[in-house]
Amino acid sequence: MKIENVDAIVLRAPIETPVKTSFGIMHDRPAVVVRIRDTDGAVGWGEVWCNFPGCGAEHRARLVKTVLAPLLTGREVVDPAAEWRRLTEATRILALQCGEAGPFAQAIAGVDIALWDLAAKHAGLPLWRMLSDNASAESGPTIRVYASGINPDGAEELAARKLDEGYRAFKLKIGFGPEIDLANLKALRRLIGPQGALMVDANQAWDLHRALELVPHLRDFDLKWLEEPLAADAPAENWEALTKATSIPLAAGENLRGIEAFEAAVSAGILSVIQPDVAKWGGISGCVSVARRVLQAGRVYCPHYLGGGIGLAASAHVLAAVGGPGMLEIDANDNPLVRGLWPAMPQVSGGQISLPDKPGLGVEPDQAVFRTYQVE
Ligand SMILES: [Mg+2]
Repeated sequence: MKIENVDAIVLRAPIETPVKTSFGIMHDRPAVVVRIRDTDGAVGWGEVWCNFPGCGAEHRARLVKTVLAPLLTGREVVDPAAEWRRLTEATRILALQCGEAGPFAQAIAGVDIALWDLAAKHAGLPLWRMLSDNASAESGPTIRVYASGINPDGAEELAARKLDEGYRAFKLKIGFGPEIDLANLKALRRLIGPQGALMVDANQAWDLHRALELVPHLRDFDLKWLEEPLAADAPAENWEALTKATSIPLAAGENLRGIEAFEAAVSAGILSVIQPDVAKWGGISGCVSVARRVLQAGRVYCPHYLGGGIGLAASAHVLAAVGGPGMLEIDANDNPLVRGLWPAMPQVSGGQISLPDKPGLGVEPDQAVFRTYQVE
């Protein structure tokens, strides 16, 4: 496929209830959509992670338009993974000079997703099927999901709504003080019963001392995992000390970047659940290879994701392609950019979704979303 045009669009959807994490609040829901058109007129869609800081979406879109688009326009692309490596290498020194390895990796991830969408459309295959290793019986269009981003305010009401919608697994945001965290945990465990899966995300809120103080209180909730109790860059010995102090499986990965960082995380053996974000680092190319490595090592691959519908579909396809016991993270908060960008998003039933048999990612964004929410 020969690339004719690469564009990035910034969407911002106003929300009534801000999304709270222990490190910051989202007052609107942003998305950076990548649209790549080839000379046959086919279009591939991608999405760039841009949740924080609040002003960051426009900058990332400009990185796509001014740094990456000139490197791709007019090029014959055969293998998106080779293109991902080429773009990473071609911008490596510039990213170092800017001190912006993260935003560059995010922008490249969004482009990678769009190139894979385009490649799978040309192949006439759903992306998960194109990516799946035929030797593995693990691949398949049906994947387990969980309701994520459950805020400290109104946690029980939101979880009850998601339970009604068909979810069977739930992840609560914690790190707001033991009183609030434990009251919410008690309410959620009561609501979902012993069969429901419950996880917590501290979003890097604690130092080791605080984490050691708090983990014993989490013991009685039968948690499937505790996510980012420490900063992603906390010393390895702190992570190790925490693993020794608790039997709750630890999860992280959304704030790791690079094959080497994931390889180190897998071989350190501390994390039970590893969560790369397809729109934040690696795109499809990097995340499929990390996911396979995670599964080989006997760990759980769970895609991290909390953005619009295109990145969600991309995460679903990676999970469907590699299989394993992981679950797709689906934002429980209302965000018009999820279904707006992925109108055919499947309904959740019995804690699962089944990807439809459409070529590519199967996202054909609703044009009304662009008319309503496009800011750049
Ligand atoms: Mg998280």
